[in-house]
Amino acid sequence: MQRIQPLPADFVRDHHAWQAQRTPVHKDTAIKLADEGQTPKAMVIGCCDSRVQPAEVFNGDIGDFFVYRNIANVVPPVDHPQAVSTAAALEYGLTVLHIPHLIVMGHSNCGGVQGCHSLCSGQAPALESPDSFVGSWLQILRPAYERMQRELQPGQDPLVALEQASVLQSLEHLLTHDFIRTRVAAGTLSLHGTWLDIRSGEVSAYDPQAGAFISLTA
Ligand SMILES: [Zn+2]
Repeated sequence: MQRIQPLPADFVRDHHAWQAQRTPVHKDTAIKLADEGQTPKAMVIGCCDSRVQPAEVFNGDIGDFFVYRNIANVVPPVDHPQAVSTAAALEYGLTVLHIPHLIVMGHSNCGGVQGCHSLCSGQAPALESPDSFVGSWLQILRPAYERMQRELQPGQDPLVALEQASVLQSLEHLLTHDFIRTRVAAGTLSLHGTWLDIRSGEVSAYDPQAGAFISLTA
C-alpha cells in the first residue's frame, strides 16, 4: 500500500492558475510578510466549515487575520482536558503576536451545533458513544444548550439561538485564561462575538447593551 499519494492533477492545475493571477501587489505583500513577520489585526476563532471564510467577510488579505478553527468554534475552559490545542493558539496569538482583537465567529447552518442540539436532546446516540470524537468535543457546548433552552424567545430558531449561545459561551471561556483576563483588564485586548449567515454573507455582532447579535448591515 502506498500510503501517501501525489497530489491529483486538478490541484496542481489550480495552483498554477492561482500563481498566474497573483498581482505584483500580492507578491510584494507576501515578501514583506515573510521578511518582516506577521502582525495580524485580529485573531478569529471560527468553525472548520468550508463555507465560513473569516478573513474574506472582513475583506482581509494575507497577514490580516490569525485564524484558529475547530468544530463549532468552541473554546474549552482552561481546566478542561481538551483545552490545550485552542489554548496554544490563543497563547501564541496573544502573548507572542500581541493581537489586539479576538473575534469568536459562529455561523448559520452549523453542522457541529446541530450535532450538539441532537446530542443534548437525546436524539444522537452515536454521538453519546465514548468512541465518538465529535460527540466528546460537542459535550463542551452542553452548558450553551442549557442556556439556549432557558432563554429561547418565542419564534426564535433554536439552532440559531444555540449557534449564538455557543459564541457567548466561548467568550466566557476565553476569560478563564489568565493571559486573556489580564490583557482585557489592561485594555490591550478586546473580545468580540459574531455570527455569520452563510446564505446572505451577512455578519451580526454581539451588542452587550442590547444583549443580542445585531446585523452589521441593518
Ligand atoms: Zn460550523
